[in-house]
Amino acid sequence: MAAPFSPPHGQYCADCGMSLDPGSLICGHCRRFVHAEQMQDLANRARQLTALGQLNAAREHWQAVLNLLPLDGAPRKDVLREIEKLNLRISPPPAKKSDWRKRLGPLGIAVAALAKFKTALLLLLTKGKFLLSILAFLGVYWGLFGWWFAVGISAAVLCHEMGHYIAVKWFGFKAELPMFLPGLGAYVKWSGANVDPGVRAIISLAGPFFGFLSGMLAYGVYSATHQVIWLAVAQFAGWLNLINLVPVGIFDGGAAMTAIGKQQRFMIAAVCFAMAFILHEWAFLFVALGAAFRIWRRDFATEPRQGIAFLYIAIATANGLLSWYCLNQGRQLFFQHRV
Ligand SMILES: [Zn+2]
Repeated sequence: MAAPFSPPHGQYCADCGMSLDPGSLICGHCRRFVHAEQMQDLANRARQLTALGQLNAAREHWQAVLNLLPLDGAPRKDVLREIEKLNLRISPPPAKKSDWRKRLGPLGIAVAALAKFKTALLLLLTKGKFLLSILAFLGVYWGLFGWWFAVGISAAVLCHEMGHYIAVKWFGFKAELPMFLPGLGAYVKWSGANVDPGVRAIISLAGPFFGFLSGMLAYGVYSATHQVIWLAVAQFAGWLNLINLVPVGIFDGGAAMTAIGKQQRFMIAAVCFAMAFILHEWAFLFVALGAAFRIWRRDFATEPRQGIAFLYIAIATANGLLSWYCLNQGRQLFFQHRV
């Protein structure tokens, strides 16, 4: 016997509860898409497949979204645009031989350069908020440590954030340029529901990885110029990125831990405890304690990724060694100058 009070699935709007016409794709009452969650899932899968290079499968997912969308409206155009982009990548059109730039010769090159300059200028104007936030961020460190340290640190933080940004874009999600919070740090706002934990972990680890690269760059500048300020920037970058790997809360390590299982958390804790006592770089201790906390919390990944755990350890160790090495160099310089 059918229960009289449980309506057949899909007959009522999930938002306003009004009854739906059979086969309708949009609620006539509140305009909610009937298959909203399913479409969101399909779109996320499609973006992840695109990032993995499985373009045909991605296109099929977008086409499935199309079947669930009403015939008019902006979302349909967006989906068609995604499919068009994929079509171009799957079978690119033959290159045009008589490019207008070539026909115009050197003048054409100049015009093209000018056009690029104009888009750069436009970008600068439209991303003004982003630039202003960097300036405010700079201001606080300027007051504390002086101008060059502020520039160096802000550049290192920018590199860290661009790591997240590039990873988010690489996986095909929408992201905003980094926002700087004066004196606190920066963040990249991005959207993507139902993201694979492995993908989320890689996006999180991309920040400390790019941050490490920027620290190495600063050390390179120090080696070339022997200006101590760059040594300080390199040390601070290494330290800051290691701290960012403390696997709790909003730190990058916190998100990365969602793809990591029990044994791998023990491994991370053990390596970081060892590093803390060998190098006396106490930021490692915080990472180790964080990993221990996440073992205690038992929120282990359902599908642990060994590769992510190794990446985690590699990036933490690299940043910690950079910080430790630069600090020791700085101490040596200090004692040399005192004697
Ligand atoms: Zn980060």
